[in-house]
Amino acid sequence: MYSFHPSENEPVKTDVAVVGGGPAGCFAAVACALTGARTMLMEKNGVLGGTAVAAGVNFPGLFHAWGKQIIDGPCWKAILRARELGGASIPKIVHSPEHHWEEQILINRFVYAYVLDEACRKSGVAVRLHTMVSGAEEQDGRVLLLTAGKEGVRLVSAKRAVDATGDADLAGIMGYARQKSQTLQPATLIHDLGGYDFNALDEGALNGYVAQAFRTHELFPEDFQGGTLLGSLKNKRINMHVSMRNGASSEDRTKVEMDARCSLMRIRNALRKMPGLENLQIVNFSDECGVRETYRIIGRKTITKEDYLNGKRYSDAICYSFYPIDRHVPTGIEQAFLKDGVVPTIPYGALVPEGSKRLLAAGRCISGDAEANSAYRVQASCMADGQAAGVAAALSALGNVPVGEVAYQKLCAGLTALGAIVPTPQNS
Ligand SMILES: Cc1cc2nc3c(=O)[nH]c(=O)nc-3n(C[C@H](O)[C@H](O)[C@H](O)COP(=O)(O)OP(=O)(O)OC[C@H]3O[C@@H](n4cnc5c(N)ncnc54)[C@H](O)[C@@H]3O)c2cc1C
Repeated sequence: MYSFHPSENEPVKTDVAVVGGGPAGCFAAVACALTGARTMLMEKNGVLGGTAVAAGVNFPGLFHAWGKQIIDGPCWKAILRARELGGASIPKIVHSPEHHWEEQILINRFVYAYVLDEACRKSGVAVRLHTMVSGAEEQDGRVLLLTAGKEGVRLVSAKRAVDATGDADLAGIMGYARQKSQTLQPATLIHDLGGYDFNALDEGALNGYVAQAFRTHELFPEDFQGGTLLGSLKNKRINMHVSMRNGASSEDRTKVEMDARCSLMRIRNALRKMPGLENLQIVNFSDECGVRETYRIIGRKTITKEDYLNGKRYSDAICYSFYPIDRHVPTGIEQAFLKDGVVPTIPYGALVPEGSKRLLAAGRCISGDAEANSAYRVQASCMADGQAAGVAAALSALGNVPVGEVAYQKLCAGLTALGAIVPTPQNS
């Protein structure tokens, strides 16, 4: 018989609970602790970094726009620290909007994971790995979180919480409204190929084999995400896609993970029939499938594609974001580039779930339409709005004001004190 009674367990108390230790959650937690709040960071995996580490997307961007730095603070210090340890390569920042990915930072996953641990330890964040938040409700002016860990089910009582799960899980669990696109962008299982000599391959022969494999449905054009087999072999990575239904349940996520491995195995087996690729192998693969899109909160403000492309300066802007609209579809990527000099901003209202007094969102799951989300979901933007969520949660908890009523000037001052760049707002 089920005999656990949460009421019999003394909850662990903290000022702010950050749920999810990805790019947004790590820097929400660090910024929150540096602002003076007792902070607990809960992460279901055994490593911090979220998609950047566990899903192998080790190329965060973009910290610069039009040749100038636009995102700074603890998240940028972590990049510099990783470089100091020989684990980050910062490219020469030039003005190349249509080659934006060339200005992303290539990080070594191990070094970066170490740097995130170090940043949390130094700032005093209480990190709980292997801890999944599976329930939450607001009780007596606090957020009571039900966590499942190695020791069993435990309660954490926090004055404020930050949903940095990437999927707005916590907002959903707490009953806040969420939004999701009709058709989600596909997920990708990041891996490394080996077992062949690229320079010895016969391009003409391979193209013939691929055309034949397309005809027999052993391979599909979408297996190469609009690119070519040769391009994939050169990069030692097949940019495969796997479709997502909703991504909000463990059942659906299990299907995505298994479908991705199944798809990669089919591609591997088809390629091994081709000359020069007989010993092709998946020599490394990420622990988790990289998920581009699931749920987002419905916030006080919602960032639209138009606002993003026009570089709207919100009256409550808390950071910049810079990336093209970048929606992955089965046949490739639908993109819209920012015009010369345009640098979009993120409003604080997009982090505040409608009707919320104690919960903030950070990262991929903040409020925006599908197109804007496909741009602001990139890691540097998630880190920057995560820092803002962390400072705001700390101010809200310490000052005992609802999250929606944190004074904007104080929030900006708190961010600036951490070295973050805050856009100058214009009335909107
Ligand atoms: C294939 C692919 C390619 C990409 N390419 C780029 C790129 O080139 N450049 C770029 O900058 N960005 C890129 N992105 C986007 C970017 O990596 C993500 O949007 C970003 O990492 C989102 O950060 P986040 O912190 O919001 O969420 P996540 O990185 O998803 O982190 C969320 C964390 O929360 C944890 N979590 C979830 N639920 C719970 C729970 N209930 N309890 C405890 N922990 C929980 C997860 O384990 C995870 O660690 C790409 C993404 C994908 C999938």
